[in-house]
Amino acid sequence: MTETLFTKIIDREIPADIVYEDDQCLAFRDINPKAPMHILVIPKKVIPKLVDAEKDDEALLGHLMLIAGKIAADEGYGDAFRTVINNGEAVGQSVFHLHIHILGGRDFMWPPG
Ligand code: AMP
Repeated sequence: MTETLFTKIIDREIPADIVYEDDQCLAFRDINPKAPMHILVIPKKVIPKLVDAEKDDEALLGHLMLIAGKIAADEGYGDAFRTVINNGEAVGQSVFHLHIHILGGRDFMWPPG
C-alpha cells in the first residue's frame, strides 16, 4: 500500500494526539489547528482524494462521517461543528490521504472562504 504522512501516523512511526481508532479509521488532532477543536478523521485504507473513492468505498465513507459526528459530540460540539474535505491542491489539500477535518469552538463564515 502507498505510504503517506498519515500511514506513518497509523503505523505509529510519527507521533500524533490520537482521539479515536477502530479497524477502519483513525482520528487525531491537527498539528496546526484552525479552531479550538480541529481533528482529522482518516481511513486506514489510502484513498488519495475523495474523487478517487470507488463504489466499494461507500460503506467506509459512511463510517468516516458517522465517526466524525460522534467525535464532535464527544468533544462537546455536537450542535456546532463543521466538516471539511479538501479535494485537490488548488483548494488547499496538502496531504494526499483522504481526511475529514472536524472543526469547532469558534464562529465560522458562510459561505466558506
Ligand atoms: P489538507 O490541507 O486538507 O490536506 O489538510 C492536511 C492537514 O494535516 C493540515 O491541516 C495539517 O495541519 C495537518 N497535518 C499535517 N501534518 C500533520 C501531523 N504530523 N499531525 C497532525 N496533523 C498534521
